[in-house]
Amino acid sequence: TKVLLTGGSGFIAAHILEQLHAKGHNIVTTVRSEEKAAPIRAAYPERVEVFIVPDIAQPDAFDEVVKSPGIEVVLHTASPFHFKFTDPKTELIDPAVIGTTGILKAIVRSAPRVRRVVITSSFAAILDEAKIADPTTIFTEASWNPVTIADIHNSPATAYRASKTLAERAAWDFVADPSNGAKFDLATINPPMVFGPVAHHLASLESINTSNERIVALLQGKWKEAIPSTGQALIWIDVRDVAAAHIKAGLEIPQAGGKRFFTTAGLFSNALMADIVRREFPELKERLPVEGTKGGELPGEGERFGFDNKLTEEVLGIEWISFEKSVVDTVKSLLAHGA
Ligand code: NDP
Repeated sequence: TKVLLTGGSGFIAAHILEQLHAKGHNIVTTVRSEEKAAPIRAAYPERVEVFIVPDIAQPDAFDEVVKSPGIEVVLHTASPFHFKFTDPKTELIDPAVIGTTGILKAIVRSAPRVRRVVITSSFAAILDEAKIADPTTIFTEASWNPVTIADIHNSPATAYRASKTLAERAAWDFVADPSNGAKFDLATINPPMVFGPVAHHLASLESINTSNERIVALLQGKWKEAIPSTGQALIWIDVRDVAAAHIKAGLEIPQAGGKRFFTTAGLFSNALMADIVRREFPELKERLPVEGTKGGELPGEGERFGFDNKLTEEVLGIEWISFEKSVVDTVKSLLAHGA
């Protein structure tokens, strides 16, 4: 199968690329610069074609790449995930939303063989910030973040969540409106915090992807005094499972069309992460918080949201990688990258 994968230089996309290639598929991928293209071309001399798409916030960004003949499936992962912006509208919302609508329009115009589009959305498009500490709330595949464009100056996290929510909504609205002429169906992958080994070219540890940042910080000794708060998400998934979910939903499970996949392996905490690293990597002792260091505990059952993703588990049938394995494999990968 010929697959278009956007954002091939990214943390999640690099695993999708690796798994697609291993399964014998042909891949067209997009990156922002020649510099990002070179390591991909070098790693995959065959069956991978790299296009440069510098700015996905331009409505015509994907017009050329979709003309690559014979694309049947599109996996759209490219979207900003960082908190280093000054203007959330132009730096987060526009690339997320225009990137998504732009690629859908380009497919309709120039890629008639595309049968399915999978968009990397997020738990950010499912959760409701007001319900994070409410134990009577159960987030599921049917839940939608009520955030609106009016909220994007509330906090960087809210702006990011708005970018994912508005982009995903725009995609479902696009395929639901017959006047847009889509001949493909849509599925979304909605992962929470993604941990896992690095498969992309990492220029330096400072440029680690956002969701692995905390593991770098732990290895750099930054958790010794106090373990930081786990944050609001509280649930996680391994990057290799996120990649597998994209491939299953995009290429392998016909009935995945029209569905949102809430891919999570369950609860985690920074405290548990520190415990695992301390136990499995005794040689790193000097850098790690001693046993009993306070902070990063999971909020109690009465102080956190509930979740239910059994629909996702039924359709995808992936046996999720355990938190312990994910943390151990991530630490090994980061040590190999100089941590
Ligand atoms: P990365 O930052 O590694 O990947 C983001 C990708 O999007 C990169 O390829 C990046 O290119 C590209 N990108 C970002 N902004 C732009 C832009 N303005 N124009 C063109 N390309 C852009 O993070 P992840 O791999 O984690 O994220 C991939 C997707 O997964 C995103 O859609 C993110 O929202 C989603 N996601 C991630 C989660 C996580 O915990 N990691 C959880 C839930 C969803 P470049 O390499 O040049 O920066």
